[in-house]
Amino acid sequence: MYGGDSNAQRGIIRQMRRLFAILSAMSLVLCMTTSVMWMRSCFVFDSVCWMRPHRASSIDSHHGRLWFVMMWSVNGGLPRGIQIIHEPPIFDYQNYPFTWEYAGITMQRFRGMLAPSATPSHFTSTAYSVPYWEVSLLLLILPTTAALRRMLRQRAVIAGQCAHCGYDLRATPDRCPECGTAPEAKVDG
Ligand SMILES: [Zn+2]
Repeated sequence: MYGGDSNAQRGIIRQMRRLFAILSAMSLVLCMTTSVMWMRSCFVFDSVCWMRPHRASSIDSHHGRLWFVMMWSVNGGLPRGIQIIHEPPIFDYQNYPFTWEYAGITMQRFRGMLAPSATPSHFTSTAYSVPYWEVSLLLLILPTTAALRRMLRQRAVIAGQCAHCGYDLRATPDRCPECGTAPEAKVDG
């Protein structure tokens, strides 16, 4: 009755469940990390910047938001390499109007002039930002779903139902006649 096919199917389902568990655990860790970064971003400016003579890309964290910034220098002359910066930028994106904003996600495009030396450098910049609370909330979906599923499964087992499909197992406690799942409690104990 339970042939190779359904065994293979159950194997795939088990693997999918394991993958789902791993992903939701990772998501929970990321959610906690972004929550800490969110609090930190209210007081501290953090930036990881990748620079080349004519171009700079950075991921910034400040004002409760995560920013993705691209900058093109017309004159060039930017130092090469990756820098981690904790000083607030000369051009605080917060003070510039948004080119567009949708569901808290913003985009800004502006031109400016930097004058660190005798020769001023013109630049154009595009900045995207997303509020940390949105990222945290998004990362909370998977762990919450996993916790709810676990709770519902436990409740079903207590009520004498199949943890997988909810079929009443009082007459056949060893294996579900509907989907073939053996109750986990029997396997564990
Ligand atoms: Zn079942």
